[in-house]
Amino acid sequence: MAIIKPVDETKIFIQPLPDFVSEQQDIQVSMLRLDTVHPFISGNKWYKLKYNISAALDAQKNSLLSFGGAYSNHLIATAAAAHSAGMGAIGFVRGLQDEQNLNPVLTQCKEYGMALYFISREAYATKEDADFLNRLQLQFPEAWIIPEGGANPAGRKGAGEISTFVSSDFTHVILSTGSGTTFTGLRNALPAAQSLLGFAPMKGGIYLQHQIIQFLDPGKNTNWSLTDRFHFGGFGKMNDSLQDFMSSFRQQYNFSLDRVYTAKMMAGLQQLLRENAFPARANILCLHTGGLTGN
Ligand SMILES: *Cc1c(COP(=O)(O)O)cnc(C)c1O
Repeated sequence: MAIIKPVDETKIFIQPLPDFVSEQQDIQVSMLRLDTVHPFISGNKWYKLKYNISAALDAQKNSLLSFGGAYSNHLIATAAAAHSAGMGAIGFVRGLQDEQNLNPVLTQCKEYGMALYFISREAYATKEDADFLNRLQLQFPEAWIIPEGGANPAGRKGAGEISTFVSSDFTHVILSTGSGTTFTGLRNALPAAQSLLGFAPMKGGIYLQHQIIQFLDPGKNTNWSLTDRFHFGGFGKMNDSLQDFMSSFRQQYNFSLDRVYTAKMMAGLQQLLRENAFPARANILCLHTGGLTGN
C-alpha cells in the first residue's frame, strides 16, 4: 500500500551550531532540523505515524485513534496526518476539559476533523489495559488504534528511518525522550558505534530506561544512556533560566526550540559540555524533534 506523504522530507537539513559552548572548540555540535517538515506533523511525529497509516489502510480501517494530553504534539500530528490521508481521526484526551473553550492545540485537532473524547485521569491510566482496548475496538471497529506517543512496532520502525539522516561522521546523537519510541527506533537502526544519549523532560524520567530496553532488538542494548537531570521543574514546566536559554539560542542561531522537549535537551547538553562530559573531538548531532506548535 502506498504511503501518502503529507510532509516534505526534502526540507530536512543539518545545521551546524558554531560556538555552542565557546570553551569547547574541539567539539562540534549540529542540529538535525526535523522540525521543518510540516507545521503540525513536525519532527519525529511523522516518522512514528507513517507505518501506522499504511498498516491502518492495509487493515481496511478508515480512521486513526490515539491518546494524548491536552497539549499533545502527537494528537495534533495524528489529526493532521489522518486528514491528509483522507481518514477520520479520534482523540482520547487526558483529563476533563471545558469543551466550549478548547486550547489552540485541541481546537486545531478539531479543525482537522478529529473527534475528541475527554476522559478522567483515572480512566486514562487504564488506556493500555487489554480490557479497555478490546472495548474501544468494539466501540470503534473501523479505527486503527495507536498507543500514546505512537509507541508500537510501526512507530518504532518509522522512527528508525530518522537514522538515514545521521551520517557515520557523528559520534553522538542526542534526543529528547517522551515515550522513548523515537529513541528505541533509532538505537535499533543506528550502528552500535554511534552513541545515543536521551534527555527525559520530566521528573524521574529515568524510568523510561525500562520502556526503551524492552523494545531493543537483540544485540542493540549497547552504547546508549538516558539522563533526567534536566527537567527544569517537571514535564511542561518552565523557569527563568530555561526561558533565557531559549531566547539566547534563538538570537544566536535564528530558529526556535520548543519549550517542552528540545529546549531542555539543548540546555542540558550545554551544561554537560561545560562539565566535560564528552570526549575531545566528539561530533554531536542533536535532533530537533519539532513541537513548536506548543510554544
Ligand atoms: C513527542 C516529542 C518527543 C518525544 O518523542 P518520543 O518518541 O515519544 O520519545 C520529543 N520531542 C518533541 C518535540 C516531541 O513533540
